[in-house]
Amino acid sequence: MALLLKGGRVIDPKVDLDGIYDVVIRDGVIQEIGSDLSIPKGVTCDCTGRIILPGLFDMHTHLREPGYEYKEDIESGTRAAVKGGFTGIACMPNTHPVADNSSVIDFIKKKAAQSAHCRVYPIGAITKNLEGEDLTEMADMLSAGAVAFSDDGKGIQNAGVMRQAMDYAKMFPATLIAHEEDKSLVGSGCVNEGPISTKLGLPGQPGISETIAAQRDIELCDLTGCRLHVAHVSSYHTVDALRDAKKRGIPVTAEVTPHHLLLTEDDLSTTYDTNLKMNPPLRSKEDRAALIEGLLDGTIDCIASDHAPHAPHEKEREFERAAYGTTGLETSLSLMLTHFVAKGIFGYGTLVEKMSDAPRRALGIDTVTIEKGSCADLTIIDPNYSFIVDTDERESKARNSAFVGWELTGRASDVLIAGYFKMRDGEVVE
Ligand SMILES: [Zn+2]
Ligand SMILES: [Zn+2]
Repeated sequence: MALLLKGGRVIDPKVDLDGIYDVVIRDGVIQEIGSDLSIPKGVTCDCTGRIILPGLFDMHTHLREPGYEYKEDIESGTRAAVKGGFTGIACMPNTHPVADNSSVIDFIKKKAAQSAHCRVYPIGAITKNLEGEDLTEMADMLSAGAVAFSDDGKGIQNAGVMRQAMDYAKMFPATLIAHEEDKSLVGSGCVNEGPISTKLGLPGQPGISETIAAQRDIELCDLTGCRLHVAHVSSYHTVDALRDAKKRGIPVTAEVTPHHLLLTEDDLSTTYDTNLKMNPPLRSKEDRAALIEGLLDGTIDCIASDHAPHAPHEKEREFERAAYGTTGLETSLSLMLTHFVAKGIFGYGTLVEKMSDAPRRALGIDTVTIEKGSCADLTIIDPNYSFIVDTDERESKARNSAFVGWELTGRASDVLIAGYFKMRDGEVVE
C-alpha cells in the first residue's frame, strides 16, 4: 500500500528537517521525502497547513486494565491516546492485580495486541504489590515486554529497598521511574501546604515532601549508576535538585505534566473542584514558574500526561475523600500547542523533543525519525482547529478533567502507526 502525504510542514529536529515536503510511505516505511512527489497508485492525503511530526509518546499513562476496567481499559485508554495524537504510551503498573510479575505484563501485551489503538509499553512494579518491601522479578518482566519499573502512586519509602532496586535494575539496564513522596512529610495532606490550604481548611503537604524523596533517589542514582526518571515534578526545590544533579553528571531524567505547567493552587482558592485534586498537588505560582524554566533549560526532559481516569462516583464526593488525578491524553498536546507553541514559548522542535524523543530515550526505546527507511509512526497536527474541552465528547471512559471548558487551538488531526491511519481527520479509525 502506498500513501502520499502532500505539502505538509515536516519537522524532525533529529535529522535537521523543517520545511514543506511531500512524504511517500510504502508498506509502512517512509520511502521518500521531497518536493512534487507523486505515486502511481495509492492514497494521497492533502496536508496543506498541517504539521507532520514524529509520533508522540506518553510515558505516564494509567490504563487501569486489569482490574479497574470501569475507569478505563486498554481499548478505551489507547483510543484516547490516539485521539490526543500519541502513537505510543507506557502504562503504569498500579492495576489489580498489580503488574508485578511476568504474567500480568504478558496479559497487558496480549490484550494490547488484540484491542489497542496505539503501541503499548507496560511498566512493571519495583516492589511486590507496590508495598515497598520485596523486589519484583524484573528480569522476567523485561523478557515479557516491560520497558521500565515504577511504584507509581505510592513511591518507595525505604531507602535501602530503593538502593537494592537500583543495583538490580542497573544490571539490565532498566530505568526506574520514581514517584517521589516522603509519606512522613505528606501525612494526610491533599493540597499544597500554604495559605490556600489554610483558607480551604484542607490538610496541606509541603513541596519538600517531594524534593526530599527525589534528593535521596538522586544520591542513590549517583551511587549505583542506575538510570532514574523522576515522575511528575511539582516543586521548585525539586527542579533545583535535578539541575544540580545534571550538573554533576548523574543519569537522571524528569517529566512534568501539563496540569502542573498550567494550573496552580490558586485555581482551587474559590472552589473545592475535585477535578483539581492531584498527586502531587497543584502548587504555587513560584513552583509553576520554576517548572517552566526547568522545562526550557533542559532540567526537565519530558512532558507526560499522568492520565488518571476515574469513575464519576470517585471524583464527585468530598474533596478529602475524592480520587487523585486528571485525565490528560486527549488534552496534553492541545494544551501545549495553545499555551506554549502558539505563544512562542517554545517551538515544534522542542515539542518533538519533550513529547516524542526524550520520553522514549528515558525508557530506552528507539526514537521515531522522519527519514527514508524509517517506520512511519507520525502525528499530524491541525494548528488552527479550535475547540472547547468537553467531557461528553471524548474517547476515554472517564470524565474527570482539570481543563473542562478551556478553549484550545490546535490538535492532532491524523495519527499513523506503521503507515496505517489510526486517526483520520480527527476521527479514530475503527
Ligand atoms: Zn505518581
Ligand atoms: Zn501516575
